[in-house]
Amino acid sequence: MKLTDYQEIRALLSLHGFHFTKSLGQNFLTAAWVPDKIAEAAAPNRSTGVLEIGPGIGCLTVPLSRLAGRVVSVELDRRLMPVLSQTLAGCENVEVVFGDALKMDLQALVEEEFLSRGLQPVVCANLPYNITSPILTKLTEMKCFANITVMIQQEVARRICASAGESDYSAFGILMQWRTVPELLFDVSPSCFVPQPKVTSTVIRLGLRETPPAEVQDEKLFFTVVRAAFNQRRKTLVNALSSQIPGVSRETVAKALETLGLDGQIRGEALAVKDFAQLSNLLSKQ
Ligand code: SAM
Repeated sequence: MKLTDYQEIRALLSLHGFHFTKSLGQNFLTAAWVPDKIAEAAAPNRSTGVLEIGPGIGCLTVPLSRLAGRVVSVELDRRLMPVLSQTLAGCENVEVVFGDALKMDLQALVEEEFLSRGLQPVVCANLPYNITSPILTKLTEMKCFANITVMIQQEVARRICASAGESDYSAFGILMQWRTVPELLFDVSPSCFVPQPKVTSTVIRLGLRETPPAEVQDEKLFFTVVRAAFNQRRKTLVNALSSQIPGVSRETVAKALETLGLDGQIRGEALAVKDFAQLSNLLSKQ
């Protein structure tokens, strides 16, 4: 069965009385090259355990199962249970777990399914776009994956990879760059899905870092500074930080910027990740 063939998808879904739910980000792939290329980009082998979020009808699960040692796919929509039983019938190394990937204890799942079997965990998924930020935050926090290869909205992918001074630069991008080395791989047009989304998608790979790109004395304060800078991104850093971080005065920020050789009128969006690290280190000493 060809799981990316539009007619076959329609016939399969109508057989099981399934209708797409927009709020679950259900845009299924209809271009065969896409799941094959995503699976190859994740580069799993027989020693790899792949965690997939949102298998849908299984079009990415099948090529992953061919390459990996084991695949565990977490799907929220239980209406897909009979569909996946049919489409994944021949895939002995695949386990489908029904539940919400945001609420599930993924660490326990990875330990039981992969680590206890000596498999190196990675993530590969065509993510439901409405959960992109929280699920990537959760997956990168776990520190057990070698890499995470996912298709997400192009706009979010660019935000994750943006550097200081670029309009897409953001607090979420800095969080991702703090934990991973992100890489844009390729774009996928809306015409490759049913139903078609309004936006272009991009496949990215996040290589998990063993240590952050800069040293900070207080990681919590580092992220407080980053968030405060981007909450009020049109304000100068002196104004943005002193108005949002209790106990941090205009003078303290101005002095720290001077010590770092940075302009007193600078905005947060112009600061590189390592500058934010140095700034938060100076503020932590106050
Ligand atoms: N992998 C399929 C493909 O590429 O055609 C489907 C991808 S579709 C973009 C996203 C899938 O994620 C849907 O099957 C949806 O039901 C599922 N999903 C949505 N929210 C979820 C959640 N919180 N946890 C697990 N799966 C979820």
